[in-house]
Amino acid sequence: MRTSTPERSPESRRVARLRRSLVSRKLDAFLVTQPENRRYLSGFTGQDHSINETAGVLLIPAHGEPWLLTDGRYLQQAEAEAAGFRVKLYHRGLFASLRRLFLSLEIRRLGFESHYFLHSSAITLEKETARKGIELVPLVGLVERLRLVKTKEEVRKITAALKMAEEVFQQVYAELAPGMREKEVAWRIETEMVRRGADSPSFETIVASGPNSALPHAVPTDREIREGEPVIIDMGVKLDGYCSDITRTVVLGRPERKVVEMIRLVRKAQLAGLAALRAGVSGNHVDRVAREVIERAGLGERFCHGLGHGVGLNVHEGPSLSYRNRKQLDAGMVVTVEPGVYIPGWGGVRLENMAVVEPDGCRVLNQDSTFLDI
Ligand code: ZN
Ligand code: ZN
Repeated sequence: MRTSTPERSPESRRVARLRRSLVSRKLDAFLVTQPENRRYLSGFTGQDHSINETAGVLLIPAHGEPWLLTDGRYLQQAEAEAAGFRVKLYHRGLFASLRRLFLSLEIRRLGFESHYFLHSSAITLEKETARKGIELVPLVGLVERLRLVKTKEEVRKITAALKMAEEVFQQVYAELAPGMREKEVAWRIETEMVRRGADSPSFETIVASGPNSALPHAVPTDREIREGEPVIIDMGVKLDGYCSDITRTVVLGRPERKVVEMIRLVRKAQLAGLAALRAGVSGNHVDRVAREVIERAGLGERFCHGLGHGVGLNVHEGPSLSYRNRKQLDAGMVVTVEPGVYIPGWGGVRLENMAVVEPDGCRVLNQDSTFLDI
């Protein structure tokens, strides 16, 4: 006969890890306001309508039960989802409730997410805490650091989100025809995501054709797609909270020779980046390896963004693959590898795949290879 030990949820393990960093920083509690951090730690999937209309905040003491403070609209959902948390309603405002909790929990030093807190809210919190002699400690990225390395289960969810994005891409790609407008294609993509059961797109779909594809963050316009020119489609699905992010540069009909040359160059840079991606190397090393391929072709100036970024509950999160990141990558991080070349007036090419970092290399999560190897 087997004796069973109570299963700890992923959320309770995450809270335990956060607590260790609270103890080492001599904090009595930590206030979580960033929505994806809130979900990561509590399981509560409520969504903020904006930074000044929150679905709730977490107050995580270094010892004792963690709290989820929310309003009546989210009560049922919060109680059902945030199993390890005590759910507290704020009737007369969040800050009044927080003040009472600070007192009853005897909090002297409180950390908060200064990268996700309105200045006006910070002023209110400062007043409330100063009056009670509580020290306020601004922190950046405490929970985000915990989120960098993904569990197998998280990688599975990200892979499922990517698979759905690729299926949507394949379907809409097959329907593409000259004369379709960029906006129309973007709308088709997003409709198809929702039809297949996505939570939502993970960001606003980019469809950029011809000269518009020279803008790395183009917004779809009424421009009609023509034969032969590059069309950048950058899209992602959010599924079960986790994001995917994929870019293909496609051509209708016979591609101009220059497009083929650019796609080959960018693909070569992408493969070099993927070959360099492994645990123990720095984010900027991987960027440099891929960038050198484009520089050797004399187009270094035209690759005007970082090579890639982490993906998880947020579509853009750490670690970054860019000159900024000198830190070592760890196994279990999920990143995009997305070199691009952008030539004003002509157009651009970007290719984006996702990969999970492994001890001796990386594993590409994509299945789709449309227009990659031409
Ligand atoms: Zn993308
Ligand atoms: Zn991306």
